[in-house]
Amino acid sequence: MDSFASHTRASAAEADGTSLREHVESFVAQRVMPEETLLEAGGAAASAVRSALAEAAKAAGLWALPLPIELGGQGLPFAEYVCLAEVEGASDYGPAVLGSASLLDVRMLQGHAGDRVRETYLERLASGELHAAFAMTEPDTPGTDPTLTASRATTAPDGSWILSGRKWFVSGAQDADVITVLARTDGQTSDREGLSLLLVPTDAPGFRLVRELPILGAGGQWEIAMDEVRLPKDHLIGERGRALPIARQRLQLGRTLRCLRWLGQAQRAYDLMCERARTRSQSSGALAERQLVQQHIFESLLAIRSTRPLVHKAAALLDAGHDARVESGLAKVAAARTLQQVADSAVQVYGAAGLGPDTALPGLLRMGRMARLLDGPDELHIASVAGSVLR
Ligand SMILES: Cc1cc2nc3c(=O)[nH]c(=O)nc-3n(C[C@H](O)[C@H](O)[C@H](O)COP(=O)(O)OP(=O)(O)OC[C@H]3O[C@@H](n4cnc5c(N)ncnc54)[C@H](O)[C@@H]3O)c2cc1C
Repeated sequence: MDSFASHTRASAAEADGTSLREHVESFVAQRVMPEETLLEAGGAAASAVRSALAEAAKAAGLWALPLPIELGGQGLPFAEYVCLAEVEGASDYGPAVLGSASLLDVRMLQGHAGDRVRETYLERLASGELHAAFAMTEPDTPGTDPTLTASRATTAPDGSWILSGRKWFVSGAQDADVITVLARTDGQTSDREGLSLLLVPTDAPGFRLVRELPILGAGGQWEIAMDEVRLPKDHLIGERGRALPIARQRLQLGRTLRCLRWLGQAQRAYDLMCERARTRSQSSGALAERQLVQQHIFESLLAIRSTRPLVHKAAALLDAGHDARVESGLAKVAAARTLQQVADSAVQVYGAAGLGPDTALPGLLRMGRMARLLDGPDELHIASVAGSVLR
């Protein structure tokens, strides 16, 4: 497996003298982007397309690039993966189709799960046979304050867990085979200690998908319920009562990867805007000659170019094992704002067509708006960064 994986990566990158980044970029542009409308529609047709694209990525030697070789990935060092995550994420479907979307779950389970859980799930998550999701946010308590988590788990006399609670806005819950759920196992409401992470197989009795929560018309987020779901003792991830440091570690890495993907999406909106400005002509000349259009282009380029180093700094600090609280907070707010701003400008320059079904711009604009909330709203990062630097 090791030598095959290394061989496919090397041969994909070297066969025609192009870099791995260029290979990923052209796969996403030529294979993934044309299927986005189908993938967004969901259902059986979308699953079939996703599987076919994953097979094509495997055949092209581009599957699971940042995942460990011993799990069937290609062992690309994180610093190298960071350099291509932007082009992989230019389509929101890129990471799933190229097998790197499981990176966060794989890293979390590798670092914090027991032997049996690792043996049962890791390789199958890395191969794409199984899918995972992560559930912290609840309907009745603020997601910005996990110490108020109302989901609860107790231990039965045989040591197994009994979990009850509700979570919502769980991305990808419908396709998930396992979901990592944050629940209170000890202590009182608002204690920082006493919260634990439990791995819930979605076929366990008592687990239920409640409803889909479309966001600005797009699916993919779900409300779930757990009614006395019984879990084996070893489905505890990390130490009992010590969930928050693991969740923080996971969220910091996830946020930084998302920032790279949002940069790729902002660049995509920017490229569409420039192309439209050059090619759409009025009687007095191309839109590109209008100063107010040029201003959209200048402000967008400025936002992308000033956000990129912030995101790469956060990624480098995380990779070196340093506390990146300030840098990942700065990067997250900047990348979300940039995507929202650039997608909005691109829609404006496109005119009505920018809101219609013929370009990716509505999806990019929607992602820009969601970005300011998911993985913690702007305000939380602003307060955290300001608090850190003032201390
Ligand atoms: C597209 C999408 C995907 C998501 N995926 C997942 C997922 O997979 N798993 C998961 O667990 N969750 C997920 N979420 C939920 C997301 O993480 C939460 O929405 C987010 O953490 C905020 O929690 P909340 O919605 O409960 O808002 P609340 O905590 O109720 O906060 C509401 C608002 O209060 C204000 N506010 C909060 N704190 C402060 C502060 N300190 N200072 C000033 N103002 C403040 C902000 O304006 C904030 O937006 C997703 C959300 C979206 C939109």
